[in-house]
Amino acid sequence: MKYFGKVLLKTTAAFGILIVSVSCAVTEMQAEPLRPPAGAIVLFDGTDFSHWVKEDGGPSGWKIVGGDILVIPGKGSIMTKQKFQDFQLHVEFNVPRAGSDAEEQKGGNSGVYLQHRYEIQILDSYGVEPGNNDCGAIYRIKAPDKNMSKQPGQWQSYDITFRAARFEKENGRTRKTKNARVTVVHNGVVVHSDVEIPNKTGAGQPEGAEAGPILLQDHGYRVRFRNVWIAPADKAE
Ligand code: MG
Repeated sequence: MKYFGKVLLKTTAAFGILIVSVSCAVTEMQAEPLRPPAGAIVLFDGTDFSHWVKEDGGPSGWKIVGGDILVIPGKGSIMTKQKFQDFQLHVEFNVPRAGSDAEEQKGGNSGVYLQHRYEIQILDSYGVEPGNNDCGAIYRIKAPDKNMSKQPGQWQSYDITFRAARFEKENGRTRKTKNARVTVVHNGVVVHSDVEIPNKTGAGQPEGAEAGPILLQDHGYRVRFRNVWIAPADKAE
């Protein structure tokens, strides 16, 4: 009996290692950049701001330079005209080198707000021990599992799978029944795997049952964006 117990223990341990190995391999397999799937909406294709407005509904004050979006500091954040619930979002971004237009060593601040509520931080975080305000963080909620930041001046990508919070009406009141959840792939590596977001982040809009836009943040730095697309998902329970 003792012998079989040991064998069982060894077999279980080996199986556990196998599972870990397989899941690591799956993580690595996601390293290929994602292309827009069928049905995706291309939010920026290098030519115009037709999908975007400022927060007050006015036209974007940012510029298109060489086929890229360039944040013009002080002109305000931009957000999509369309609103979304569950989706897969691809964004490429490039933070500037510290210097003339960065007032601090650690610059390049911007961000991608999901539903205008939850920010996935953009920052020059190259080489640092990542905190919950660094690039790839769910702002002030959770640091990325790994710092995948490239040096400023290089193109980086986010592939974000988002599931909106769920709400129910009960006795005339709306009640949240499930938190929003997010998976973030930064430069091809999973840095948040289906993580619950308990509330809106920082300057985000209050949570609610209604859909919300994607917002790109003006935080005073000349960050660039390109190749932005979104694939809305069916609102499966
Ligand atoms: Mg930010």
